[in-house]
Amino acid sequence: MSASTTKMAALRLPPLPTIADIIRTHKLSARKSLSQNFLLNERITDKIVKKAGDLTGSYVLEVGPGPGALTRSIMRQNPKKLILVEKDHRFLPTLNMLQEAFELTGSKIDIIINDILKVQMDALFPKEIAEDWNDKRPRIFIIGNLPFSVSTHLIIKWLKAISEHKGPWSLGRSKMTLTFQKEVAERLVAPEYGVQRCRLSVMAQAWTFPNHQFTIPGRVFVPKPDVDVGVVSFVPLMTPQTKHSFDFFELITRHVFSFRQKYCIRCIETLFPLYCRKEMGETLCKIADIDPTLKPTQLSVSDVDKIATAYEFLLQKHTELQTYDYRASRRLLHDKYLDEVTISDYRD
Ligand code: SAM
Repeated sequence: MSASTTKMAALRLPPLPTIADIIRTHKLSARKSLSQNFLLNERITDKIVKKAGDLTGSYVLEVGPGPGALTRSIMRQNPKKLILVEKDHRFLPTLNMLQEAFELTGSKIDIIINDILKVQMDALFPKEIAEDWNDKRPRIFIIGNLPFSVSTHLIIKWLKAISEHKGPWSLGRSKMTLTFQKEVAERLVAPEYGVQRCRLSVMAQAWTFPNHQFTIPGRVFVPKPDVDVGVVSFVPLMTPQTKHSFDFFELITRHVFSFRQKYCIRCIETLFPLYCRKEMGETLCKIADIDPTLKPTQLSVSDVDKIATAYEFLLQKHTELQTYDYRASRRLLHDKYLDEVTISDYRD
């Protein structure tokens, strides 16, 4: 489609009621259990879409369209196909209306009423649009003003899919542009030595380039959430910062951040049973060439990768260590405090 036909296609959209009118007419009161905070400001939804990139002729997955303000901004950019995944069936009539309007322009909308965490992502996009991982990115974009209740869970799930080239990432380095609570957005992008540096920063940066594009003040949402919201884009790295599997690297990262305020060697020691903990911790730091007095927050992704590689080497040399489970040992000791620290989620 040429640029001028594309523009005309957008102009052919029939006039639509405002989002505020839709919410009022359909009595779509926001449900807290589904983290429903709606955006009614077109300038902001257009800005999110602009940060996603050039959507013309592309395939877009939108998570949680709700009453459809962000959906309309996406539609105005003329993607070839828009896939909407929304858990709340109350939005179906509104989304059907957008579907009809969009299809007049020759583009297509698929509506899936389901939990995004349960959707089989493999079948959503046609195989023909695949690009080689080391080539340009495919014309696939994932966009969402995400529900806070699932955003961290979802990004971890998708980072794993990226690491394994599964789902939309089986077709190449598909870009995501998603919202998070501002604090989570800051954690995702925090560099080493940054105050917000944590496990989530290392995991996100090992496989993607996360970019905190801008912050949306909480007051522009309806209803207003307690926090501001950060828009973060993720471009999968051609060459990840680790060659380890997602699960193994995640395990190491979790140990490395088990005590944020202590020297990293204290955390590294937790990879080993008590009887050899001190000695093995020192050996690992030497093999990995890591300063044992650095704090976990001062370690780069490459440092964590070196720790993982050194640990793998030690496991091969001392096979008896392979069955050691730090969390199980803490439970055995009924050391509730340590257990809580270790098992803490990505908010640590
Ligand atoms: N996109 C709309 C906007 O910007 O105004 C709504 C955003 S609201 C923060 C989050 C949306 O995600 C809601 O429509 C909610 O119903 C939907 N949602 C919540 N949990 C979901 C899930 N597990 N899967 C899919 N959608 C979900």
